[in-house]
Amino acid sequence: MQLSIPRGIVYHLVLQDIVYLIRAFFSPLTNQAKILKFEKKFAEYMGVKHCLAFPFARTAIYYSLKAKDLPKGSQIIMPPITIKQILDVVIACGLEPVFVDINPETLCFDSDKLKAALGPKTKAILLTYLFGMVPDLGELISLCKERDLFVLEDFSQCLNGKFADRKVGSFGDVGIYSSSSIKTLDTYGGGLLVCHNDLLYERLKEFKESLPRPSRTALILKIWTDLCRNVATNRIVFHVVTFPFLRLAVKLNPERVIKHVGHRSTQMLASLPEAWFEQYTSLQAELGLTLLPQVEEGDSVRAKNVQTIKSWSTDTGFRFPKGALKSENVYWQFVAYCENPLVMQKYLQSKRIDSSTTSLVYISNLPSYPYQGLTPNAETLHSNGMFIPAYPGLSQVEIRHIATVLNQSKTELQL
Ligand SMILES: *Cc1c(COP(=O)(O)O)cnc(C)c1O
Repeated sequence: MQLSIPRGIVYHLVLQDIVYLIRAFFSPLTNQAKILKFEKKFAEYMGVKHCLAFPFARTAIYYSLKAKDLPKGSQIIMPPITIKQILDVVIACGLEPVFVDINPETLCFDSDKLKAALGPKTKAILLTYLFGMVPDLGELISLCKERDLFVLEDFSQCLNGKFADRKVGSFGDVGIYSSSSIKTLDTYGGGLLVCHNDLLYERLKEFKESLPRPSRTALILKIWTDLCRNVATNRIVFHVVTFPFLRLAVKLNPERVIKHVGHRSTQMLASLPEAWFEQYTSLQAELGLTLLPQVEEGDSVRAKNVQTIKSWSTDTGFRFPKGALKSENVYWQFVAYCENPLVMQKYLQSKRIDSSTTSLVYISNLPSYPYQGLTPNAETLHSNGMFIPAYPGLSQVEIRHIATVLNQSKTELQL
């Protein structure tokens, strides 16, 4: 029997989620020694001097900008696609976001468009490696250094991605990794900040230590979310329950089911919620210490699966981003462009393959915000970039099935 293939996975065992859910009710959450141990391990893993664990990536970005203390009204170069909360913290810091379009082949800033956007007020840049693709960082970083920009790297989707044999996240002034649900290192949330500079580290550490005690309820809810996602994508449960449900949902309301983990709010926030400013817990750190040694193996399986799918899919209804030379991509989500995602999703479903487009927000074009940008390449990626399953756990037979279906898609859909 051939099981249906889910759009994505949670990178731990269901049993692990159950154990942590139970522990979250009574285990201590503020064991500083354990948090410190995880921070040290992660810094070492990244080849960077310091690490600080915040509750969210957005929190780490907020404090990085606070620590740098840029003049009000300074401009920060922003990716046109990311989670909206990052836009909220940038605005809360009194900065003006300037959106620069992506290069469709590397999914990060197009260097010519970046050059054109730099002005006297540009003081910072947020590099974001979408879907585990690594751009030409030689070019981008030297451009930032030339202009003396404060460089933040959001490598939430690209842990272990490399450029010229060096890990992304270690190039900038700060690197930030979100260990949130469905990421390759998922500790039920978390914003792991890495940096080289001692002074910056000391300032950020003060901010971190000023955070109030974590909320047990919030942690329990995060673990519960992961557990639900994990059960729903368990191969048997997915085949028997989730997939038939998704097929029905696609028939009834296709627009709702096309996004990876559902739609997200696009309203501007009046103020930043308190829940963003609490301590990272030692229970999360403990899971991080357990999971960290397994991440690279998963990455290499994913990269191999992507290579297999690409080399077998020679004539398909999809177009794969090319990537950059000297880059090692990790393909957190293997994304490819197609003409009509709604039609394609239905077609893939008929072949027992579930797929989706990104749930990230196209933040350069939100009507409720005062800042917009002209970013057509990002718009195409946001609406026409589809995730093709390539995660670890798929068998070689399934990977070949996916490649075969991609190949057939062109003729069967008459593309
Ligand atoms: C998942 C993700 C985040 C999440 O940030 P949090 O503040 O930790 O929720 C941030 N940036 C990117 C690019 C992500 O994919």
